[in-house]
Amino acid sequence: MISTKIIIAIDGFSSTGKSTIAKQLAKRLNYIYVDTGAMYRAVTLHAMNRNYVTSDFFDSTKLILDLDNIKLSFVFNPELGFAEMFLNGTNVEKEIRTIQVSKLVSKVAAIPQVRRKLVHEQQNMGKEKGIVMDGRDIGTVVFPDAELKLFMTASADKRATRRYKELLDRGDDVNYDEVLQNVQERDRIDSTRKDSPLIKAKDAVEFDNSDMGLEEQFDRIMSLVNDRITK
Ligand code: C5P
Repeated sequence: MISTKIIIAIDGFSSTGKSTIAKQLAKRLNYIYVDTGAMYRAVTLHAMNRNYVTSDFFDSTKLILDLDNIKLSFVFNPELGFAEMFLNGTNVEKEIRTIQVSKLVSKVAAIPQVRRKLVHEQQNMGKEKGIVMDGRDIGTVVFPDAELKLFMTASADKRATRRYKELLDRGDDVNYDEVLQNVQERDRIDSTRKDSPLIKAKDAVEFDNSDMGLEEQFDRIMSLVNDRITK
């Protein structure tokens, strides 16, 4: 039996547990895990720091002109067991997860020049395969030939509850309605943008995990993985 390295593309709506499953898969398979949402969040943080974007203003031209000065890298943290996002040499893992960034990221991610830059970097990371990547356009645009594509969904209420708990655990001052509204608004913008909207790839396997336990989901996905890596 020969085991081959594959690309696993995980797409889906906000807070559907994509990163949890992606991290588990990467650990089990000894693959690289890439959280592409972190890259869009880091570009957004840069745009916020430079005042290119606020809640009622977005100078996308200034951001586009500055794109070459945005250096993104993932640095593996052995204590956490996954890679953290660095923006121009600074660890921004915590800052990119705030509700303030979540409220602006979909506007920034709709800019074609931003997408072109990040998609190019993501494709380079997958050249050797052996990678689990999650996002919104991985199976449709970044790796249309990925050997395994997953599309995750869950009810808006379940997703907002998960994200709300995550933010509270981090000590953020948020309320549930604000989080629910943000999850729904991001899904709306992500699904309706012109450039690479969030859609299920034709050959993706869909998982609605509203009522599915993590273990059951992992086992089901691992059996799909095993089908593809053993020949
Ligand atoms: O995955 P996460 O929720 O952190 O992603 C944050 C945002 O980044 C998404 O709501 C979406 O606007 C954008 N994104 C994207 N394409 C990806 C990954 C994320 O447009 N591949």
